[in-house]
Amino acid sequence: MILVTGGLGFIGSHACIALRRAGHKLAIVDNLANSKLAVLERIRDLAGGDVAFHRADIRDATALAAIFGRDPVEAVIHFAGYKAVGESVAKPLDYYENNIGGTFVLLKTMERYAVRRIVFSSSATVYGDPQRLPLTEDHPLGAVNPYGRTKQFIEVILKDRAIGSPEFRHATLRYFNPIGAHPSGRIGEDPRGIPNNLFPYVTQVAIKRLEKLRIYGNDYGTVDGTGVRDYIHVMDLAEGHLAALKFLLDKDRSITVNLGTGRGNSVLEVVNAFERVTGIPIAREFAPRRQGDVASCYADVSLASRELGWQTKLGIEDMCRDAWAWQSANPRGFPE
Ligand code: NAD
Ligand code: UDP
Repeated sequence: MILVTGGLGFIGSHACIALRRAGHKLAIVDNLANSKLAVLERIRDLAGGDVAFHRADIRDATALAAIFGRDPVEAVIHFAGYKAVGESVAKPLDYYENNIGGTFVLLKTMERYAVRRIVFSSSATVYGDPQRLPLTEDHPLGAVNPYGRTKQFIEVILKDRAIGSPEFRHATLRYFNPIGAHPSGRIGEDPRGIPNNLFPYVTQVAIKRLEKLRIYGNDYGTVDGTGVRDYIHVMDLAEGHLAALKFLLDKDRSITVNLGTGRGNSVLEVVNAFERVTGIPIAREFAPRRQGDVASCYADVSLASRELGWQTKLGIEDMCRDAWAWQSANPRGFPE
């Protein structure tokens, strides 16, 4: 059985479908801190099979031990954590407690039950302000906010754990900008409150929940002055987890690897692609740069291709189409 922490969240839900469809037996642990129970039924429908669920907090060692004690765990895929950069600046202790504390309890429980394989959700944010592009995995790390630092510290903890215990293996996946949704439109990104991220903001303007997009900065040294990111379709990212799991189960080593497309798109390119694909105009205005943003960020994906045999298949238009399929079918997100 593969234990998936945070499996009801945006990326976890899509990964669960890919894992289940590939034949893995799954159990999800989620405390619903940033997700809704309705996701579970949809995962079960789309995955075409049974998926066990435990409503529990990974910081609860007793609850976690009960789950590990019930069914042998082959490997853990660890998505659970908080992810909002701005909130992490305002509430750093909550972020350190949940992200690092949660991972710590999880790793101790894995040790107790001799579970030695983990796939971890890291982030391109660990690189901080890029000194060179594309970002290779050996680029110096320098997260610039508490959220990013939790990811950076967890990466260190995983490396130390692997040094101390040679049979322990981790696949640390540095995601770039996951967007899009399952092509069925039944699951997708459902942020609470006003979205911080570009894509959910755009789809909520399209659905008329929000009035207009503010584009943060048009004076960067990029193709059209707006920020450039490496947007990756969440279905491609889900497949990346399958490839990482296979790597861990087949090969005798750990890996830290970028998951992106290797291509950057500017904010304007994304918004124009969305309009082209959906035919819906997106009201927008330029606004000052957002504090902490970098001009450009995109991945070197050669390691992922070489080591995991994985590469993305979907482009920005697929991301727009599928994000819109989700948002238009679920204008208020998942039901409570
Ligand atoms: P998400 O918030 O949608 O999913 C996280 C899930 O974890 C939620 O369902 C939440 O309820 C659960 N959770 C949080 N704390 C928990 C705890 N203590 N115990 C049990 N469950 C808990 O986020 P996501 O976008 O799916 O991201 C998944 C992972 O990928 C996160 O670790 C995030 O930091 C990382 N990541 C996300 C992005 C992104 O842009 N979405 C980019 C890079 C890395
Ligand atoms: N962005 C924007 N308006 C928004 C949200 C984001 O112009 O309402 C820009 C942001 O400045 C960045 C890009 O979109 O250049 C991606 O931002 P997002 O928050 O989605 O991802 P991240 O900052 O983590 O790369």
